[in-house]
Amino acid sequence: MLREACGIAGVWNVERAYNILHDILLGLQHRGQESAGVVVGNFETVKGMGLVEEVIKSERYIPGDRGIGHVRYSTVGSSAQRNIQPIIAQTRKGMMGVAHNGTLPDADYWKNWLMEMGHIFLTETDSELFLHLISSSPFDKAQDAVVWTLQQIRCAYSLILYHKDFIAIARDGFGIRPLFWGKFESGFVIASEDAALRVIGAEEIREVPPGTVVFFEKDREPYPVTFSNLSKRVCSFEYIYFARPDSTFDGLSIHKARFNMGVKLFEETKIEGDIVIPVLDSGISGALGFSYASGIPIDLGLMRNRYLGRSFIMPSKRSETVRRKLLPIPEVVSGKRVIVIDDSIVRGTTMNVIVRMLRESGAKEVYVAIHSPPVRFSCFYGIDTARRSELAASSQSVEDLRKAVGADRLVYLSIDGLREALEGRNACFACFEGRYPHEEGSRISLR
Ligand code: SF4
Repeated sequence: MLREACGIAGVWNVERAYNILHDILLGLQHRGQESAGVVVGNFETVKGMGLVEEVIKSERYIPGDRGIGHVRYSTVGSSAQRNIQPIIAQTRKGMMGVAHNGTLPDADYWKNWLMEMGHIFLTETDSELFLHLISSSPFDKAQDAVVWTLQQIRCAYSLILYHKDFIAIARDGFGIRPLFWGKFESGFVIASEDAALRVIGAEEIREVPPGTVVFFEKDREPYPVTFSNLSKRVCSFEYIYFARPDSTFDGLSIHKARFNMGVKLFEETKIEGDIVIPVLDSGISGALGFSYASGIPIDLGLMRNRYLGRSFIMPSKRSETVRRKLLPIPEVVSGKRVIVIDDSIVRGTTMNVIVRMLRESGAKEVYVAIHSPPVRFSCFYGIDTARRSELAASSQSVEDLRKAVGADRLVYLSIDGLREALEGRNACFACFEGRYPHEEGSRISLR
């Protein structure tokens, strides 16, 4: 499985900021389950390993009408306690906190530069860099130092900065990761995904434009500052897998985008079968689109156990792990040509077990249809796509991969099909075609 790389949240000028952050972070839990944390009021901090409910206790109250929060899955830095966000530090511009979604391909360059000047780093994360650069900025005013810092770092970030006088929220110039804000009661709320804001009843929700920082300050309407004019490249994998289906990104519903992918997948492949079954949950919207376009009925052929907590002890065998998470319903698949729809194949091991279980449950033939192109390259922008050598499609042809997963047919959506499904969005497709937006005109190559 691909794993998300963090969700961020913020509250400005609303009493019970701690409790509201708890509610927003719950809506972002899918973006990170390793650790959670908040900084509230006068830099009161609650952080720990675990899910939101385990760390940020909803029955607790911490005074303060502003704060920021984070749920984490580590892509850079181990999942150690010291790497839990938000990170706070005393800077030359005052005490500051940061919550960051994304990774910075330029991080080593900046870290070396700063360490040569005598800086020491307390975490292994890229995110700490923002605080160091703000502290080192030639500008005295903290807001100017923030803008200067954002101009230095190209990507990939959606982030929230916390200062005693303001909150600043920003997206890099490519707009790779999502970020939204909206009105709530007497103030404003911020989240990686709009669904997490709609859940709590926020209004007038809008997206932070790429290359823009929005400042929230006392007795002033929020005001944007543009710091970059790069061309937009939103992450196509947010649409394929990461984001909640009830979210939108760049004005396109995630569910609609996945539905479109399923439609395009059928139009390109014209596979015939008796039944369409999704791999739950992220395959559902694509399977609905495929079924709609093909007229082939969709059914629940694989049941997912939603109640496996983090205490679930992984059996030593991969097949047993998958079986405990996903189990075929023999009555649905027996004697049928089954079309299994999933969002992507990373290493191929999970799909191999699914195909085997479907055959054991009586499926006559198993066709695997993936509503994205083969993942051939690693992501350097905040998603754990595994090392390139571990990506099944990086070294194998589709036919070799079909044999490896044991399917009768294996088909993928083309990159053009994906582009059409995204209805003309200018997106990043680097993990499919290896062209990284960051390398364009950059001093640093990723390979
Ligand atoms: S490389 Fe892939 S996962 Fe990473 S930002 Fe680009 S599209 Fe998203």
